[in-house]
Amino acid sequence: MRPRVAARGSLDDRLIDLDIRKFAHVSNVRCSLPLKRRKILKFGRCRRTVRHLGRGGGIGRRSGLKIRRWQHLGGSSPPPGTTLICDPMLPPMKYCSNCGSLVGRTVPADDNRERWVCNHCDTTHYQNPLIVVGCVVEQEGRILLCKRAIEPRYGFWTVPAGFMELGESLADGAARETLEEACAKIEIGHMFASIDVIHAGQVHMFFTGKLKGGFGAGDESLETQLFSEADIPWDDLAFRSGRFALQKYFEDRGCNNGVHIHELR
Ligand SMILES: [Zn+2]
Repeated sequence: MRPRVAARGSLDDRLIDLDIRKFAHVSNVRCSLPLKRRKILKFGRCRRTVRHLGRGGGIGRRSGLKIRRWQHLGGSSPPPGTTLICDPMLPPMKYCSNCGSLVGRTVPADDNRERWVCNHCDTTHYQNPLIVVGCVVEQEGRILLCKRAIEPRYGFWTVPAGFMELGESLADGAARETLEEACAKIEIGHMFASIDVIHAGQVHMFFTGKLKGGFGAGDESLETQLFSEADIPWDDLAFRSGRFALQKYFEDRGCNNGVHIHELR
């Protein structure tokens, strides 16, 4: 008998909620928590009954799914008791970059987290957070900001920052982004802020820097400008991570107080 199910939304059409009263025959596991719902996850040929253990079982709001009982209909599977991470943030992927075949979303046998795995060559495509590097550049007490010429946040102000490239250090990346966005050469200082941007799957890391010479507007900037602390356009800043970095920069007053850690969700 197939229970009536309700689609949960666009996050993952394979993650569906089931009303426990209509699905009591599937699982005879006693619930120690006041559960109202159980979730069924389908991984290709596997169907597993899992129990939601709440926030304590993993990382992120929807993690912490622990198998108590499953109906294994085929394919590889981790051993009973394994905590499975079913990540709704897993970015979409359709084709394998190794062979061009279709990929499928599954939990590899030696893993506990959903990955994209090639149906043909079995390559597992790991996807991890990206690093953004930026710099708070100062000249005689004023801070260099860029007005964004691209989305997201077109027209809002930001400290020079962007994605780190392969083959460069964090400091190299911060200096490069400053050169690209503000046409400014700098003397790089110390790293002073690290922000986990959980919802975006990114880590933003900021350095101090001193301006060496002139500056201008790079391709991604409408204009660049030096601002005193009193004139920082706080209401028109593009990103919360940049706001945090600027706040901590001014609090430090030029001292190296280590790295300020912050978390955004
Ligand atoms: Zn492949």
